[in-house]
Amino acid sequence: MHWADKTAEDLTRRGKSHVIETGTSISGIPHIGNASDVIRGDAIRKALADKGINARFIWVADDSDPFRKVPRGFEKLKDYLGFPVHDLPDPEGCHANFVDHFVEPFIADLSEFGAAPEVISGREMYKNGEFYGGIKTALDNCEKIVEILNGFRQEPLPGDFIPWNPVCEKCGRISTTKPLSRVGDIVRYVCERTEVSGGTVEGCGFEGESDIKKGGGKLPWRVEWAMRWAHFGVTCEPLGKEHASAGGSFWTSKIVCKDVFGWEPPMPVIYEFFTLNGEKISSSKGNVITLSDWLEIAEPEVLKAFMYKVLKKQRDIDLGRVSNLVDEYDELEAMYFAGSDEDSKRHYELSQVSGPKKLQVPFTMCAVMSQIPNLDLEEAAKRLGNQGYEDFDLGRLDKRTRLAGNWVRRFGPDYLRFELLQDVSGICLDEKQKEGLSILAGELDKKYKPAELHKKIYETARSIGLEPNSLFDSIYLSLIGKTKGPRAGYFLLALDKNFVQKRFGDV
Ligand SMILES: [Zn+2]
Ligand SMILES: [Zn+2]
Repeated sequence: MHWADKTAEDLTRRGKSHVIETGTSISGIPHIGNASDVIRGDAIRKALADKGINARFIWVADDSDPFRKVPRGFEKLKDYLGFPVHDLPDPEGCHANFVDHFVEPFIADLSEFGAAPEVISGREMYKNGEFYGGIKTALDNCEKIVEILNGFRQEPLPGDFIPWNPVCEKCGRISTTKPLSRVGDIVRYVCERTEVSGGTVEGCGFEGESDIKKGGGKLPWRVEWAMRWAHFGVTCEPLGKEHASAGGSFWTSKIVCKDVFGWEPPMPVIYEFFTLNGEKISSSKGNVITLSDWLEIAEPEVLKAFMYKVLKKQRDIDLGRVSNLVDEYDELEAMYFAGSDEDSKRHYELSQVSGPKKLQVPFTMCAVMSQIPNLDLEEAAKRLGNQGYEDFDLGRLDKRTRLAGNWVRRFGPDYLRFELLQDVSGICLDEKQKEGLSILAGELDKKYKPAELHKKIYETARSIGLEPNSLFDSIYLSLIGKTKGPRAGYFLLALDKNFVQKRFGDV
């Protein structure tokens, strides 16, 4: 059974009313790793809907978080270390602030993947007093919280720890404030130097008062998460393995949720993170790809299918090999339309955005076609079709070809990139090579499948005593001016026949 259906089934044992929470810290660029949380949550929403349960599906922007580390490319924001991310300016000046600059495209892109969660700003919730009850409960239970948190810490928190991070009224920073005492809704604090992961942040020395009712601050993460679960009535939360490792925040928040807020903690759906080009995804290191980037090189369904595979396995997205991920998706699609395997069928179905449409024209083939000017795609795909390509959705073929073109230009392997030669005056071939091309030109009048034509090239070379490699070289040289290119059988059939015949006669 697919993990989303298994989760939905387990959830129905808890009750009939469900809230699935997802969330993203906006302290860096929201990337596909962050999106996987939401896209996976959406699979659970769908699995529940298929059981007749309409869950509330929310996404919370952690936009009160401190800015701890400067993402690569945003060095001009380094003076904002320690500020709540909500108060950072838009690095490019096109939105009201830093958070909007990243959240707006992130949410718009998510909808391209079929995920449309209810968007909630943590910052707004604090500011509007909606979390007031939760903050008060936390502060009324300081001792209990310290005891729970210390159960997971090497270095214990002091007994008088107050779980509230005020924003300094004088300098606006949040990382630098240290609560001193609390009376009712008022927390006294001092603003002093502190260390964050991106460096040292100087405090302004101010001693002030933070009114929790006005929400000028936030609860520490492990307490906030628990409070949110209780506040929204969250029953299910997908989370990355880092939160669920030994001592990870999930285990602490779970106890706080139950013992302090009196809410049965949500069922976790724990997933392994994935890497990008073999390295950890990291906006501070610049190893990041966003949903927008993905949507320029491949269909959203391909990434969804990748994310919907078994959760507890670390995987890599190698941008140079996106074609392999598309091939895997196409295999699922073939199984879906053949109706052969129930698990694959469900996997494919969950990965859809607007319903199944058959294509089955390989991505690398589309990458080749994208580079041929004035090509009639439908005709070319039919010429190439030897495995049922005849039956395909033309809209998808257009789109995939455009995306594959972007991919091959930016990330594709050299052999797949080419430009058709305008004229062949600079190309010198020997007599045997010319003879081989002339025979092949004649062969193109027959109906070949790509693999058969490929074989025919070998046979032609041998029939005239020419090394096959030499004939392949002459094919590529006469068409693209280099000796390596896309697989010749496919390549020749993708091109217009008259063009190839004329070219093979001209060299
Ligand atoms: Zn902007
Ligand atoms: Zn300050």
